[in-house]
Amino acid sequence: MPQPDPSFRANDGLNAAVELMRSPAGTPVDLPPELPETGLGDRQALDMLSCHVLGKAAQLSAPTSLAHMDPPTPWITWAMALWDASLNQNMLHEMTSPFATQAEERVVSWLAPYFGMQGGHFCSGSTIANLTALWAARDSSGVQTVVTSEAAHLSIDKACRLLGLQLVKVPVDSLGRLDRERLPDLNAACLVLTAGTTATGSIDPLDLIGAARWTHVDAAWAGPLRLSPAHASKLEGIEAADSVAVSAHKWLFQPKDSALVMFRELEAANAAISFGGGYLARPNVGVQGSRSAAAIPLLATLLAWGRMGLAQRLDRLMEVAESLADAIEASECLELWGRPQTAINVFRPVDRQTDAFVAALPKGMLSTCVLDGETWARSVAANPSVDIDGVIRSVLVASRDCDSPLA
Ligand SMILES: *Cc1c(COP(=O)(O)O)cnc(C)c1O
Repeated sequence: MPQPDPSFRANDGLNAAVELMRSPAGTPVDLPPELPETGLGDRQALDMLSCHVLGKAAQLSAPTSLAHMDPPTPWITWAMALWDASLNQNMLHEMTSPFATQAEERVVSWLAPYFGMQGGHFCSGSTIANLTALWAARDSSGVQTVVTSEAAHLSIDKACRLLGLQLVKVPVDSLGRLDRERLPDLNAACLVLTAGTTATGSIDPLDLIGAARWTHVDAAWAGPLRLSPAHASKLEGIEAADSVAVSAHKWLFQPKDSALVMFRELEAANAAISFGGGYLARPNVGVQGSRSAAAIPLLATLLAWGRMGLAQRLDRLMEVAESLADAIEASECLELWGRPQTAINVFRPVDRQTDAFVAALPKGMLSTCVLDGETWARSVAANPSVDIDGVIRSVLVASRDCDSPLA
């Protein structure tokens, strides 16, 4: 009998790893520039890495964090991610994921109805979800052209390039939504509408769904609002789409890599994106082959919070964005691009360079975006632990401080 390899069993090192999450310790030591010939040992590696991995990370749960679509994650997802890593189930074969496959089916069956979809599967992000949906559109309905707005996410450009689809971009209106007056003929096209554009959080007119041969809704950011009774109607009409993408690692507070691609006619869509290999008990659906049990952290989150627990957090973040917008509108030193549609604010100081203004604030408070060639500051309310009163105070002070005015 070979000795069991201790590196493959839980031991005190694992408790130490959890303890380090609470209080990162140790003196920073540079990482070896070359692959070590002899290993340091598990505990030494852990100690060496804690100052780097834990100590140098972006603090997404900081009270000042309001810059990006990347939320902090609830601790129950850390526990599930640890279980997932230790079990290493593979969603490619049910043999290697007997429960995880059921878990994914359950989570998808819970969520898909909010979008009017029959079902779908998890993938590593909405970049892949969008690619998968456009692949299904091309091969099940024969579309050769994709029509989307100029504010669509670059993953639509990538998908069209990879799939050999022609991409037509339509200008946006003053609220950042696809301008319906500028649409080309959609008869033989796939229309991609965005629910929550990346720069401004705008929602394209979803009543256009059905005007094209296939309509895909990229709801990577704002999709989860469908679970909020207060905000679900902002995405009204999405139920008629042919496919929907939602990033769970954005507004469902999941660790990366977690997203869903969903289809209204599941069987027909799956038939277009499945490959059966002799060694597979059932066909491989979608772009990825081996795939993690990303559904399990989401299953745990939804069990722990329920729909209302999720909705309360989203509703509060919508309010966070509203209160920031109110403060910007009330200030003479700031210009608001437009009222927030999905908890994203775009604004700028009236007499300072936007870049200097953003740089004067704590790191991670604001990001920037470029609209019509001009730079704007952007906030994204993804962090339930944000201290919005503190952020507003800082933003107002930085906008008044005219040390480096434009002139
Ligand atoms: C973030 C985003 C994507 C890409 O999603 P990933 O999960 O980062 O791959 C696609 N579309 C929109 C509108 C997004 O905001």
